[in-house]
Amino acid sequence: MREIRKIQIALPSLGDDEWLAVREPLQSGWLTQGPKVAEFEAAFRERLHVRHALATTSCTTALHLALAALGVGPGDEVIVPSFTWVATANAVVYCGADPVLCDVDPRTYNIDVESCAAKVTPRTRAVIAVHLFGLCAEMRQLSTSLPASVAIVEDAACAAGASFDGKPAGTIGEVGCFSFHPRKAITTGEGGMLTTNRDDIATRAAVLRSHGASASKDTPDEPNAYLPPDFDEVGFNYRMTDVQAAIGLVQLRKLDQFIEERERKARFYRDALADIEWLRQPAWPNSGKHAWQAYVTYVDPKIAPLSRNALMARLHDRGISTRPGTHAVHMLGYYRNRFSLKPDDMPGACDCDRNTLAIPLHNRMSDDDYAYVVDCLREIARGA
Ligand SMILES: *Cc1c(COP(=O)(O)O)cnc(C)c1O
Repeated sequence: MREIRKIQIALPSLGDDEWLAVREPLQSGWLTQGPKVAEFEAAFRERLHVRHALATTSCTTALHLALAALGVGPGDEVIVPSFTWVATANAVVYCGADPVLCDVDPRTYNIDVESCAAKVTPRTRAVIAVHLFGLCAEMRQLSTSLPASVAIVEDAACAAGASFDGKPAGTIGEVGCFSFHPRKAITTGEGGMLTTNRDDIATRAAVLRSHGASASKDTPDEPNAYLPPDFDEVGFNYRMTDVQAAIGLVQLRKLDQFIEERERKARFYRDALADIEWLRQPAWPNSGKHAWQAYVTYVDPKIAPLSRNALMARLHDRGISTRPGTHAVHMLGYYRNRFSLKPDDMPGACDCDRNTLAIPLHNRMSDDDYAYVVDCLREIARGA
């Protein structure tokens, strides 16, 4: 009898370096956004070769800031691929704008460029291109299919370290938004980052991130730093803490090593599972780098001997934790009801919702753990 292993779907990789790094802000007493956040932002800018990086409390709030800084508001439409984490669409609702869902390509799980282009109207202000699971959306095709007046915001929540055509994810559209949730490759607990090459967006986002406080009106030769700023509009408090940034700085230094290992394991899965015809392996990038936030397979309902959910149950019995890739937003209650949407309205996203399966991939699994997952899947495929 083989011993049952306990394998989690994802697990952050934190060590003594992070533990030591949080001592500085804790001992200094500077806990909110301060020198560590500035250092983390600078390191992120340098890593991505981007003009601006603003740390936030999450990718969700970074997306909200990005749209607000672009001036998206009531009466505007923003196109969002339906197969994504619900937060992508929620950010549009926060702005009082209308989210317009479009379909995805079930081969890549990313935005279907034709479906997106067909949803453009005179009211369309932006498209959110999601780089799902770390694979970049087809950014070139997407941008050529859109009118110049439509901004592209990258939801790069899963894509720290990914690239497309030699460009880092998050630097291709007008704005990029990253997540440091523990399910992503690098983490600060909760946390996010907004990146942009546009000075105007960075300035607007910085103001909105901190309650809408206007920059000091004082002239440089009269620095009355003790006078409070003015508040010309309603902003938010989306500031990251220095404790989180201290962790993020250490994590960012490990990003390349994390991705390299994830890529090696992804290749192992791909080769070891290639002959299970009904379990389609994830797409590899044509040009650029996959960040492998998750390894998401597809259980082909036309030829699989068991359903995706039955397979999840069988793996669960063997101690292996799995998840559906993500959900189709047009099938979730709020969006389904608000826009009277049927599953078939976006057949690609519906297919992905029902048949995708993320299997464990993270930086705290041993070679034996990976081999165990493969053994269990092959055993199930043999009908054992
Ligand atoms: C995780 C994720 C988000 C949300 O990130 P948070 O930092 O948890 O707000 C948004 N979009 C996608 C595609 C994600 O995977």
